[in-house]
Amino acid sequence: MSVGVFYHPDFAEKGYITLLHRVKPAYDTLCRQPYAVKLKFFEPSVTTLHQRLLNQVHTESHIGTVQAEGFHEVALLSAAGVVTAAELLAAQQLDSAFCFVGTAGHHAGRNYSWGFCYYNDVAMAVVRLRQLGVNRILILDMDPHSGDGTRDILALDPQITHINFFADEDYSYQDDKHHNYGILIDNATDKVFLEALEEILPKAANVDFVIVIFGHDSHCEDYGDFYLTINGYREFTHRMKEFAANRPLLFVLSGGSNPQVAASAIPTVIESLLD
Ligand SMILES: [Zn+2]
Repeated sequence: MSVGVFYHPDFAEKGYITLLHRVKPAYDTLCRQPYAVKLKFFEPSVTTLHQRLLNQVHTESHIGTVQAEGFHEVALLSAAGVVTAAELLAAQQLDSAFCFVGTAGHHAGRNYSWGFCYYNDVAMAVVRLRQLGVNRILILDMDPHSGDGTRDILALDPQITHINFFADEDYSYQDDKHHNYGILIDNATDKVFLEALEEILPKAANVDFVIVIFGHDSHCEDYGDFYLTINGYREFTHRMKEFAANRPLLFVLSGGSNPQVAASAIPTVIESLLD
């Protein structure tokens, strides 16, 4: 298995305040693991391509707001890593990848954002994948907060399957026409989450590319309203790997602020991608 890890020191220094303290402890712990020699490490950089993708996904007014708030550079750099990972996966130069970020993406809609999110990194990667001829894509969001920004941008796209687990909405939804599935599992344990995953995954059988939005705010010792554990993350990653089979598998970091949780959760996910 060829596994890529995308990381930039700016994520830990210039990222959103709630998210940035978890980044370096997780990366440093990862680098100390014996299996780290098997990983391929990449440091993303922003090019004119990423600027163009940004303009395709977000309005000028939103970009202006993010610039005024001071998060434009680190949010675009985060998205650049996700886009580059998607390109290398599509070119079969990697089998799977994990992207660290400095800001998150799933609460970033076309013309707004909130909740530590600024630019929708995954939506930008989807636009890029389309340019490369990859059309049918699964976005599986297991951050316990609903991916409203991703829905704002991609909900009506029939070739995107969006599986959205959350604890912060009032009800579940199912739109088979547009392949949108919202699954309310408030206070979910590993068992509840993994059973819900098993039930919904067949809806995504026909995709060509798998993206997982991974928030460790889903951990029992972090701030979201899921109560997952490190063992749950290991099983989840193995399950996603089995589901993806020979299709590209891209994990993108989302919420989570507890450095101890991050230092355990993120290396566990990456090690499970290698297994
Ligand atoms: Zn979250």
